[in-house]
Amino acid sequence: MKCAKCQTENRQDSKFCLNCGESLVIVVPVDEGVRRSPLANKRYAQGKNPTLAGILSFLVVGLGQVYNGDFLKGIVMFVMAVVLFVPTTGLSYFPMLAWSIVDAYRVAKGNQSLWK
Ligand SMILES: [Zn+2]
Repeated sequence: MKCAKCQTENRQDSKFCLNCGESLVIVVPVDEGVRRSPLANKRYAQGKNPTLAGILSFLVVGLGQVYNGDFLKGIVMFVMAVVLFVPTTGLSYFPMLAWSIVDAYRVAKGNQSLWK
């Protein structure tokens, strides 16, 4: 990979130029509704409705996460809500619900990254 600034040839997987330190990561690939930053390697929800995500999480814990493309987090939330329901006589459901709604809203807004 050639540095655009000083024309030094760098290794293909280099993120910065060995000679001048210029960032070699220029192109940010965009795939189906998910934006990925090459440096932080984090994914963000894009084009999602925060209010709808919150409402879905209110209906079913984890559903807002699934809507955001956060499948793993949605499943973990749902399983946690179900598993904790009996030993806590249902009390755990409300903090789980609150977490799910707030998280779905924040992720849909793009304030918080998705789980891998
Ligand atoms: Zn350079």
